[in-house]
Amino acid sequence: MPDPLHTSGRLPLPSFGRPVLMGLPVFSVALALFLGLFTVHASAADKTGGLGVAGEPQVDDAVCVTRCVDARKATPGSKVRVEGDYLESVSRVVFAGANGPIPAGYARRGYGAVTATVPKGAVSGRVSVVAADGTRSNRTPRELEVLPPSMIPKEVFPIRGRYYPFTPNFGEDRGTHMHQGQDIGAPCGTSLVSVRKAVVEVRDTQAGGAGNYVVLRNLGTNTRFAYMHLQEPSPRREGDRLGAGQVVGQVGNTGRSFGCHLHFEYWVGQWWTGGKPIDPFPYLRSLLRK
Ligand SMILES: [Zn+2]
Repeated sequence: MPDPLHTSGRLPLPSFGRPVLMGLPVFSVALALFLGLFTVHASAADKTGGLGVAGEPQVDDAVCVTRCVDARKATPGSKVRVEGDYLESVSRVVFAGANGPIPAGYARRGYGAVTATVPKGAVSGRVSVVAADGTRSNRTPRELEVLPPSMIPKEVFPIRGRYYPFTPNFGEDRGTHMHQGQDIGAPCGTSLVSVRKAVVEVRDTQAGGAGNYVVLRNLGTNTRFAYMHLQEPSPRREGDRLGAGQVVGQVGNTGRSFGCHLHFEYWVGQWWTGGKPIDPFPYLRSLLRK
């Protein structure tokens, strides 16, 4: 395992050569933050403004977290995060079923989100929740698709959500080192997911370099993928086994980074010691065509 203190000069650094691409995400995030704050204030005002619905559970979205076909395409057995307000006392999450709604117990809950496992027999439809006192929420504006597990892709693009167009930048001369990955600009907070079946080999932080990063060893191969500049340390632990599409963190701007982006590396052989990085661009592009 490389000692970050002794490799800081060699770990890949972000692009200095794309001020426009790198500047865009920063601006977007600032804008999103501003709009987000505004929205929170507005909805808080609504809820205390005597509309008579304060405290009743409200749902905005249902997003697939594990065993997913896509962000809003789940399978029976998927964990789904239902987002909204006043969800801390939810006792059931209700999915559509062929013969009527199917309630499922929650796995985790808090004010703004509740997670539950998609039950057998669930079909595509909108999701709602029921509080412990029997109060029902609205149904999510968007449908959660429920598909057979055979639809779960074996490989997925590492960013789940919005990202900016990217051009090859592996091998660029960055002054002190060769750039040994691919940079992809995306709004900070966008989910990063495991590309394929893998084990978390390294989870670490390197101030002034990679920032928060993870290295995944791809099962059944002698290859590794590294994800750098994560917003927060990965929620995964070293040794965790992941399926394709499982969240490993969020796009960030930590370490030596000048704008929200993913720095992605593709290694053949060991990461850092003995192996060598190859250009991830053709492979990443092939994932987009799937
Ligand atoms: Zn980079």
